[in-house]
Amino acid sequence: MMIKLRMKCLNCDKWNCIPVDKIVIEQSSPEPKVKVLIPMYEPLKAETCKKCKKVIAQPRELIRIVKSQTSE
Ligand SMILES: [Zn+2]
Repeated sequence: MMIKLRMKCLNCDKWNCIPVDKIVIEQSSPEPKVKVLIPMYEPLKAETCKKCKKVIAQPRELIRIVKSQTSE
């Protein structure tokens, strides 16, 4: 599934919108019967920041969006 993902440039903090492929990765969890599904995003091509031109995403470098949660 192709979607647009907003990604923040780590270098200059600019938000960039990049096309990515959404995939779901299954991860084992401590509970044998529980499956943990983690959504990941794979860039379709190398993307550079519109502002500082730094590479912010590359194919095969999966992006994991961690939702901010106060679990600790
Ligand atoms: Zn930048």
